Amino acid sequence: MAKPILGLDLGGTKIASGLVDPNLGQLSGLGLLTRPTFDPNQDVDVFGSVVAAIRATLATNALSITDIDGIGVCVPSPVDPKTGFLYNPPNLRGWANIPLRDRLQEIFGITIAVDNDANAAAMAEARWGAAKGFSKSVIYVTVSTGIGTGILINGTILHGKNGLAGEGGHVPLDGFGQERCGCGNFGCIEALASGTAMVKLAKKLLQDGARHSPWIQNKIQGNLEQLDMLTIGEAAQQSDPFALEIIDTQGMRLGLWLGGMAALFDPEIIVVGGGCANLGAPLFNAMRQTMIQRTIHPKAAEIPIVLAQLGVASGVLGAASLL
Ligand SMILES: [Zn+2]
Repeated sequence: MAKPILGLDLGGTKIASGLVDPNLGQLSGLGLLTRPTFDPNQDVDVFGSVVAAIRATLATNALSITDIDGIGVCVPSPVDPKTGFLYNPPNLRGWANIPLRDRLQEIFGITIAVDNDANAAAMAEARWGAAKGFSKSVIYVTVSTGIGTGILINGTILHGKNGLAGEGGHVPLDGFGQERCGCGNFGCIEALASGTAMVKLAKKLLQDGARHSPWIQNKIQGNLEQLDMLTIGEAAQQSDPFALEIIDTQGMRLGLWLGGMAALFDPEIIVVGGGCANLGAPLFNAMRQTMIQRTIHPKAAEIPIVLAQLGVASGVLGAASLL
């Protein structure tokens, strides 16, 4: 029997870790462990939290380091996968330019692989999830607070010269518009069609009085601060016209961008994950229609756009799949 691999998903607010059976592509042992990325007692820094998460995963499963085959780590940051060097994670403030792989190897003396989280999730979906059997080219998109992408070409992650390729969320759709992205640029698809962007748009339209939604107003008791993507999703399930309009706008923007991605990469399949993917048919229909209508790709209608399958464990499974 193959030894398990330890997968660790370093996020902006929490670290998830677990053991993965490399043959089955499933969590093994006692499932997912989570802990805060930033230690509330401030006894350790982010690196200390990562080390503690690895030790806790081993201890919880009553294993020692020699019982596992390696550690895969995915990070919310541009990273050089050859060296495991982290550049500038936008959501881990004060933590940049870290030789993460070398520092972990010094401590644990075992094979360590590090890659970007969306790249890792793309690999996991291709190997074990929604894109299983589609080995040629896969585009994975996660739409939640931000937008991340991982692109597989002939079954391997597209890394580019420095490991920095695949930042599809920061392709500008309206570079001369007003919407500023977290990366500092204007009009990135992330700034226009992430969950955050759609909530911002919905708030603006309701605040200005340009639109009304009695269902939403009732749900949030008139307090626009309470409005989030989950509420918009619930409203859409009640066929609320405003919620459906917001989701349609998000889907059209994503579809326009996916049309460009289709023209660039001619993918076999597009997998969409992240919280917003749960908006379901209204989002997927708008994405699909717009992608087909607004691309030069003559066979865009044949590209399946499917929901990601691996859910909350995709980061941990993806991290393990790096080995
Ligand atoms: Zn950006």
